[in-house]
Amino acid sequence: MEAILFGGVAALANIVGGFWVTWPRPILRRSILSYLLALGAGFLLAAVFLKVIPTSLDLDLWRGRSTAPLILVLAGYLLIQLFEHTVASHFHFGEETHAEALVKRHVVWTAIGGVALHAFFDGVAIAAGFHVEHRLGLLIFVAIFLHKLPEGFTVASILLASGRSPRAARWASVGVAAATLLGLALMSAARGTVPYALPLSAGVTLYVAASDLIPEINRENRSAFSLVVFLGVALYYMTEKALEAIWR
Ligand SMILES: [Zn+2]
Ligand SMILES: [Zn+2]
Repeated sequence: MEAILFGGVAALANIVGGFWVTWPRPILRRSILSYLLALGAGFLLAAVFLKVIPTSLDLDLWRGRSTAPLILVLAGYLLIQLFEHTVASHFHFGEETHAEALVKRHVVWTAIGGVALHAFFDGVAIAAGFHVEHRLGLLIFVAIFLHKLPEGFTVASILLASGRSPRAARWASVGVAAATLLGLALMSAARGTVPYALPLSAGVTLYVAASDLIPEINRENRSAFSLVVFLGVALYYMTEKALEAIWR
């Protein structure tokens, strides 16, 4: 139940991001997005390496067979490389401004499809986390939540840059939110698949942090943005300590 609640909040952030980019008047400075991307990247990286992968290795099914969950982590990583950057020919996080790259219809839809697939695993990761342990679910929720607003912003801006209406752009962000909810719902119904789903979604999350978000931050060539990645790691540490203090 709480998986659906927290996952729903994460999905809602997609829609807020979609409305933000399509709002007629500028609301808030766009650089806030870059700071959010950087904070989310640091938090996600720390969560994957320090919590989600160790927890996966420790699940009953995998105890003593440590390479199996790591193969699933690699598979999750490669799955997103395949759908966001092999099937789709143009995709990057942040505001889409390359109208010339989006002339062909399929470029737009494969990019949206890639994001929707990764958003599906955002939902899977949150639900799988809550299945294992309350604190793990909360940590994964915070980690994923931080990039959901920029994610909604990203898909809506792809549609805008390709010449679609703001209405269509908002619907794209609703679609990505729906993919998140679908991942949540399927995972909530299939508890038994947690030993597979948790490491697989860790690989997806690793891809999002290290290969979608970090390159976008580096492209800005501003040390301030990069520094926020380290703040994201510090925020992870503080969140973990706070959750430990509350539930012990
Ligand atoms: Zn572009
Ligand atoms: Zn995502």
